[in-house]
Amino acid sequence: MKVNSINPYTRKVLEEFELISGEEIAKKLDTADETFRQWRLIAFAERSQKMLNAAAVLQENKEKYARNITLEMGKTLKESVAEVEKCAWACEYYANHAASFLEDEAIGTDASRSYVRYDPLGAVLAVMPWNFPFWQVFRFAAPALMAGNVCLLKHASNVFRCALHIEEVFVKAGFPQGAFQSLLIDSDQVADIIDHPIVKAVTLTGSEKAGASVASRAGKNIKKTVLELGGSNAFVVLPDADLELAVEVGVQARMRNAGQSCIAAKRFILSSTIADDFMKAFKEKVAALKVGDPLDETTDMGPLAKKDLADDLEDQVNRSIEAGAKVVCGAKRKDNFYLPTILAEVQPGMAAFDEELFGPVAAITIAGSDDEALMLANTSNFGLGISVFSQSEARAQPFIQLSDDGAVFINGLVKSDPRLPFGGTKRSGYGRELSSHGIREFVNAKTVWIGPGQA
Ligand code: NAP
Repeated sequence: MKVNSINPYTRKVLEEFELISGEEIAKKLDTADETFRQWRLIAFAERSQKMLNAAAVLQENKEKYARNITLEMGKTLKESVAEVEKCAWACEYYANHAASFLEDEAIGTDASRSYVRYDPLGAVLAVMPWNFPFWQVFRFAAPALMAGNVCLLKHASNVFRCALHIEEVFVKAGFPQGAFQSLLIDSDQVADIIDHPIVKAVTLTGSEKAGASVASRAGKNIKKTVLELGGSNAFVVLPDADLELAVEVGVQARMRNAGQSCIAAKRFILSSTIADDFMKAFKEKVAALKVGDPLDETTDMGPLAKKDLADDLEDQVNRSIEAGAKVVCGAKRKDNFYLPTILAEVQPGMAAFDEELFGPVAAITIAGSDDEALMLANTSNFGLGISVFSQSEARAQPFIQLSDDGAVFINGLVKSDPRLPFGGTKRSGYGRELSSHGIREFVNAKTVWIGPGQA
């Protein structure tokens, strides 16, 4: 069976890939297992050196990798370059910190000596999406490899060239063959790989549907999973907010990556006292975004990554309009492009409020009080993150304490950072990536008790 990588801007086939056979998959799993037996014994210093090499390979080849990201999934070239650079940062971060995150932890008990050690699990399967085709993979792979695991990647089928480029990074960096392998497979082949005894755990970043399917299969096998799923982040603007800042950040938070980000601000909850002023400035900036060829450096927004995404977004916007939402700007589609859009008068019960809109559409809802804003922010099946704009930390405090989400950003956009844990609640998934929390997801926290015991 073959899979095509299609440039979403030109809608032309970039490359055709042959899916690998069951036999080839079995060979790669054996290689992963053999490699793990060696890799787990390698000292942190040596693992770190290879991870620093990976960062250097990313920096040296960033133009090539970034150009291909843009060709395969349509984000602007400057966004692709920034993505590759961020991957290098994550590699350096874990090269420098993994040993201390996974140091033995002495705990005083009745033993002569007792402690916790963090051992790797083995081969971890990563099922990854196309929206940040490098970043999503590196934020899993850098900590997993530093912990002594080996990685198997099933990448989204529209970014197989990215999958091969990522494998190339680790090979060029000097990792052993089998430490990181890209499997060019169909999503139907994932279940058998989860069942395989060599695979010890699974991480998935993607839709709820894929997450539920992969997690239930892993559950059947009693294998650990981490799920990073969809989001519908609230972006709350309180009456005392710095409006200029809120507008500036709001445009970026909703529109970058053509709105195709799990942590994008999707539901704008505006205090009634500042709503008109915010909307006037917000509309001006949204309407001024330049949409076009993502390789052109003056372009702010490229096409959506696939035709079906534009179809789904168009349907969600149309259903919201039928339910009473008002178009402030945009709401037009051409081929894979969807124009930057603002919908006003959005309420719970409408698609634009209840569902995840994976494209450049800002849904506006007005709140009469801070309490109502908090209630609306929490009225979601998702729980990835929330932004709150207020010049008073005391005023923002109830949002910090009572938000259901995995992250609260005051006066800033929700973003991932290697130093901070990243993950969601509710239907956005479970588990954490990045920071010390991320590297401990795929380890065996092993209790060691050494006698003789004390009286
Ligand atoms: P998707 O359809 O779920 O695809 C993600 C990955 O899962 C792809 O590799 C896909 O392979 C695979 N897949 C799909 N169905 C599967 C199944 N039944 N069994 C095994 N694997 C399966 O998601 P998407 O539409 O590409 O990505 C957008 C979604 O990802 C959004 O909901 C977004 O919010 C979420 N996301 C979440 C985060 C986060 O960190 N929380 C980050 C980015 C994106 P194929 O390509 O072959 O179908």
